[in-house]
Amino acid sequence: MLRAVQKSHLLAPLVTANSICRPISQMHSINFSDTHLMLKNTCKEFVDKELLPLAAKIDKTSEYPAEIVKKMGELGLMAVDIPEKYDGAGLDYLSYAIAMEEISRGCASTGVIMSANNSLYLGPIFKFGNEKQLEQHLRPFTKGDKIGCFALSEPGNGSDAGAASTTAVDKGDHWVLNGTKSWITNGYESEATVVFATTNKALKHKGISAFIVPKPHQGLSLGKKEDKLGIKASSTCNLIFDECKIPKENLLGKPGEGFKIAMTTLDAGRIGIASQALGIGQAALDCAVDYAKKRVAFGKAIANLQAIQMKIADMETRLESARLLTFKAAVLKDNKMPFTKEAAMAKLAASEAATYIAHQAIQILGGMGFVSDMPAERHYRDARITEIYEGTSEIQRIVIAANVLKEYN
Ligand SMILES: Cc1cc2nc3c(=O)[nH]c(=O)nc-3n(C[C@H](O)[C@H](O)[C@H](O)COP(=O)(O)OP(=O)(O)OC[C@H]3O[C@@H](n4cnc5c(N)ncnc54)[C@H](O)[C@@H]3O)c2cc1C
Repeated sequence: MLRAVQKSHLLAPLVTANSICRPISQMHSINFSDTHLMLKNTCKEFVDKELLPLAAKIDKTSEYPAEIVKKMGELGLMAVDIPEKYDGAGLDYLSYAIAMEEISRGCASTGVIMSANNSLYLGPIFKFGNEKQLEQHLRPFTKGDKIGCFALSEPGNGSDAGAASTTAVDKGDHWVLNGTKSWITNGYESEATVVFATTNKALKHKGISAFIVPKPHQGLSLGKKEDKLGIKASSTCNLIFDECKIPKENLLGKPGEGFKIAMTTLDAGRIGIASQALGIGQAALDCAVDYAKKRVAFGKAIANLQAIQMKIADMETRLESARLLTFKAAVLKDNKMPFTKEAAMAKLAASEAATYIAHQAIQILGGMGFVSDMPAERHYRDARITEIYEGTSEIQRIVIAANVLKEYN
């Protein structure tokens, strides 16, 4: 488990195979606990040794990193905030944010695979599941042997999640699900999904319920694997429910509680996506600074040019601002305080920072930024999704503004 691994890793000197990275002590303006620092070190070693050498390859081949996910499971990274009692790492949400940033610095695809399992699949089951559901549908998904997914979006509605048209009909001793869920991360490899369907259309979003469906399952088929701009090593596909019969006991929470479960899940998930964006932004900044120090133009390294330094200053400022917002949201969640607004601000700031930083990194690299010999173009492609999933930037602004206006009442 993570704690044991951390201790053994701490005994060894910190390996920095990725020389372009700054020491951890210079990377954050927050005083982490020893546990958080050990976690960061463990993840950094894992990223430098295992993920960085693989990231470009699996981006090109769109190959799911099964071995990596298994190793992450052994480290506790596939169930970071799930208690040890259920085979999770038993850490807090700040730990999850720290680990997610670091893993995504190495590979954004692996970051989203980890995020979908941790916050979108295990998150709602842990919060709303009963003891039997935790044993059956949560415990086996904590070690990287099995992963889960979360099926909310539909072809006809993404941002407007309350308009779900997938139905679940009560047939006495079982439910029957019909409808299509779209854009489902981990859709191909997952062995279970939390799915949202309406049990009472007249009640609109209050008629939505949540269900756990093991995969593969009769009546559940997969659409084509989407050919994406970025995060290419994570699978994304439709889940098609056609007369899909599931046991009565697979209802998660109460009937009609689905929309609340989805929104609660996304609040927490947004801290994970903010952290993923931080990792992508950090990787792009590392790449740009390393290049700027080595690239000579007009007789000196371009890092000495004021034009380049202005870019680096803006990149660092946006990244660190977003990081502080992300840590704040995680700490609020850990302290059981409201964090909806802070999670939305973190996701908005971090995703826009990552997109900006990756854009500037390409500019700093010049022609080398435009080709896949260097990772900047991958970071640019990977960053873009963080402004779309788990609520677009427009939706984050709506959430933030609604909360601010409420605070003034
Ligand atoms: C790679 C990938 C992975 C994903 N993974 C998952 C997953 O695992 N599970 C899942 O359930 N979903 C997943 N999604 C779906 C994702 O959450 C949605 O794509 C996202 O919420 C946006 O929904 P949409 O694509 O239907 O866009 P729409 O809702 O149609 O929005 C289109 C545009 O209109 C804007 N817009 C919409 N409503 C408003 C409004 N009220 N005010 C202002 N602007 C508005 C949007 O911001 C956007 O710019 C994934 C998507 C992608 C691309």
